[in-house]
Amino acid sequence: MDEKSNNPILAKYMSLDQGDSIQAMYIWVDGTGEHLRCKTRTVSEEPTKPEDLPIWNFDGSSTNQAEGSNSDVYLHPVALFRDPFRRGKNKLVLCETYRFDHKPTTTNTRKSCVDAMSLDLVKEAAPWFGIEQEYTLLDMDGHPLGWPKGGFPGPQGPYYCAVGTGKVFGRDVVEAHYRACLYAGVKIAGTNAEVMPAQWEYQVGPCEGIQMGDHLWMSRFLLHRVAEDFGTTVTFDPKPVPGDWNGAGAHTNYSTEPMRKEGGMKYIYEAIERLSSRHDYHIRMYDPNEGEDNKRLLTGLHETSSIENFSHGVANRGASVRIPRHCAEDGKGYLEDRRPSSNCDPYQVTEAIVRTTILLEKV
Ligand code: ADP
Ligand code: MN
Ligand code: MN
Repeated sequence: MDEKSNNPILAKYMSLDQGDSIQAMYIWVDGTGEHLRCKTRTVSEEPTKPEDLPIWNFDGSSTNQAEGSNSDVYLHPVALFRDPFRRGKNKLVLCETYRFDHKPTTTNTRKSCVDAMSLDLVKEAAPWFGIEQEYTLLDMDGHPLGWPKGGFPGPQGPYYCAVGTGKVFGRDVVEAHYRACLYAGVKIAGTNAEVMPAQWEYQVGPCEGIQMGDHLWMSRFLLHRVAEDFGTTVTFDPKPVPGDWNGAGAHTNYSTEPMRKEGGMKYIYEAIERLSSRHDYHIRMYDPNEGEDNKRLLTGLHETSSIENFSHGVANRGASVRIPRHCAEDGKGYLEDRRPSSNCDPYQVTEAIVRTTILLEKV
């Protein structure tokens, strides 16, 4: 039997009555700040909010989150979703990680994000985000899905938003993931095939405050888990194929209450001014390796800006920040920060934007 788990025999067991017991799969970001881990426990009552679930722990020495001699790391449930794999009353539980001394682990970036989002000034501004998550599907050998072995497909052009055999690769995964997100309660907004073959995008949002990071991380978990069933691998690497192939980003659309109202363009330009004065800080926050990964993406080619300097423009897909044409016409709406890398941490990205444009932090 191959590694795919599309095993019809499994269905026989999954349809067994589970009694009053509920399976809760705890999910967390590991020590890389980029990858996810999960484990399951049985609970006796259906939780309706994260606090209904017990704090749990795991072996942090196996995830690069603790020393072997003091290895217990705590899992604090923070967001609940329906489980599209086990269905019924079973849950997916996004967690924050805490050290033995109850301080956040270094990769628990949610804690400081939620602190920022909870400030009165930020709550009054009602920050909305919509992230366009790009990713690439790979086969079992780590080769882009559907690409000829030992060669390359034809040059980019026919693949973006494409339909038809030879132009799209992995649509089953995309369809399954979309429906899994809807079932789970993730605010997925849409999906499309991207410029490089086997590259796709979906959007999550608009989400207010901390919900952006929570929903995006859960959507990534669902994508990895769905892809397992198809024997496919997902990579969020920002430049999976070097050369004349598009990389993958996580464009972050952003607005505040004043930007969304009549005359909002004034506030959009104020935010852009703030962002321009803090480019280096944002680059450090926009991938898990302080800008190193993004160097491969933000080259100034392939619909990206240069990592070296900040630029902006209406409808300009070669700028750091773009104002969508329809927003410029309406005189209000939102801006699009095109700099975050596809493997970015949405907690860090949204926190940075809020600190710069609402809390007016400098340096
Ligand atoms: P693009 O033209 O860059 O490909 P998309 O349609 O892929 O844009 O994504 C736009 C995203 O912007 C959507 O995910 C949507 O949720 C988000 N969005 C729409 N309105 C707002 C807003 N007022 N504030 C923040 N995000 C928004
Ligand atoms: Mn898009
Ligand atoms: Mn975009």
